Amino acid sequence: MKSLIQDSNKRKIGILGGGQLGLMMILEGRKFPFTFYVMDEPNAPACRVADKCFKLEEYKEMINQVDIVTFEFEHVKEEALEYAKEKDKLFPNINTVELKRERWKEKMYYKNHNLPTPKFYVAEDGEEALRILKDQFNNVGVIKQSRGGYDGKGHYFIKGDVEKYSFIKDMKCKFVVEEFVDYDYEASIIAVRDKKGNFKVYPPTFNYNEKGILVYNYGPLNDDRFKDIAKRLADSLEYVGTMGIEFFVRKGEILINEFAPRVHNTGHYTLDAAFVSQFEQHIRAISEIELGDTTLLSYGGMVNIIGTDNVPYEVLKFGKVYWYGKSEVKKRRKMGHVNVVGEDLEDVKQKIDNIMKLIYPEGLDL
Ligand code: ADP
Repeated sequence: MKSLIQDSNKRKIGILGGGQLGLMMILEGRKFPFTFYVMDEPNAPACRVADKCFKLEEYKEMINQVDIVTFEFEHVKEEALEYAKEKDKLFPNINTVELKRERWKEKMYYKNHNLPTPKFYVAEDGEEALRILKDQFNNVGVIKQSRGGYDGKGHYFIKGDVEKYSFIKDMKCKFVVEEFVDYDYEASIIAVRDKKGNFKVYPPTFNYNEKGILVYNYGPLNDDRFKDIAKRLADSLEYVGTMGIEFFVRKGEILINEFAPRVHNTGHYTLDAAFVSQFEQHIRAISEIELGDTTLLSYGGMVNIIGTDNVPYEVLKFGKVYWYGKSEVKKRRKMGHVNVVGEDLEDVKQKIDNIMKLIYPEGLDL
């Protein structure tokens, strides 16, 4: 019989990007005797726990030295992704990142694969975007820059007050113009797929976002439709690794907002509420180890610590703190998170509420 330990001793994994997602990937991946290299600046969170850290310009050196390359941020240096792909070491596949580089491609992908998403149009420039907003959506909708956006950057929410946004007219880039979804709630699902096509999901969660940033989430939310959509998306992409898919739920209708080809902020609760975390699953999937059990051991949730290092000791009464060790506190920057578990959803929600009041006594400033 093959031995996991003897087999895995030789395995080296290179992670492009050294943020908190990379940090947690390594900490969870340390359960296996693997070696972890990271490409980022030396003070990046994941570099603190990596076996070796490489500067951005040293990407070839890192990729040449590892067996498998993955990423924790889809907007990472393009040359590094391309090089890893050329060497046949990149998981998940580069096609997933290509969809994320241009929002319009991602949206068209959903449309072409019959996956439910809000009504949208693609505009070649700002002038066309404003025209579409008027003609198709009666000046109520969301204009999103196609390239370079995350955490709600480059989004314009327009509710009839179109004069305020006349500057968009002079913008010479591509846009997606989308209906404004008056959703009941936002939700997400964390899925994992391996090279043989085995597929698993964690139960979906309810998410609360503010100004394009996840503030907290909790679950499980019991609805199998999320899983079906996730499976169709992951299979069609021949996806390998963990992915997060975000949804709007409007009057019982489920619409994909976006997917992320990586471990996801709404899956942090799996570190404590599940038998195997989303991070360990990713490491398992890309290194051809059997996927783990995604069953939840309890109800769970998470609160992000954003733009502050105010974490009163009392928080520990309700949850478990994960601090990312970033060099500096900045507005809108995710500094850490707090995981909670509970007897039922009400218990989890109550704990989240208590933590929110402790961390943001004056309210959250985003
Ligand atoms: P990013 O890709 O920058 O993270 P998203 O497209 O996920 O941005 O949007 C961020 C947030 O903005 C969403 O979580 C949601 O709260 C809100 N949002 C985005 N698109 C719409 C829409 N069409 N209708 C209503 N709210 C939206």
